Amino acid sequence: MAEYDNNNIFAKILRGELPAQKVYEDEHTLAFLDIMPRAPGHTLIIPKKPARNLLDIDPESLAHVIKTAKKIAIAGKKAFNADGITMQQFNETAGGQVVFHLHVHVIPRHKDVPMKPAASAMEKPEVLAEHAKLLKAALG
Ligand code: AMP
Repeated sequence: MAEYDNNNIFAKILRGELPAQKVYEDEHTLAFLDIMPRAPGHTLIIPKKPARNLLDIDPESLAHVIKTAKKIAIAGKKAFNADGITMQQFNETAGGQVVFHLHVHVIPRHKDVPMKPAASAMEKPEVLAEHAKLLKAALG
């Protein structure tokens, strides 16, 4: 497996070198909106400690990510009046991974509404800002 690359997009977001619509942050994790959401409120949760994916992350760091994913799932269901939540996580190119810093997708879902295909459309910044506001309010 390739080594962790410090210049991946999410490492740059963590260092503040690239912008993101952040919705939650603690000592171990950061949650921000996906710029090409598969449904409104689509959020990515990442560990602050570098890890390429599930295959190399240390179990404690993964536990922090899952804990934050649960918080975001509950907030997403509330903020978007969702009927359900889809959680996804991809590993290596063959597993569908595109950005090589571990991330969990948390996607609010509504009954009979399919998700948009992955990476199909960039959302408008003002829409992402509004969605981040809704999620932050639901997080309390
Ligand atoms: P994957 O590695 O397959 O889980 O996909 C990476 C995800 O990151 C995709 O859903 C992209 O839309 C998303 N993405 C890529 N660049 C950014 C970015 N700068 N900010 C937020 N999300 C991003």
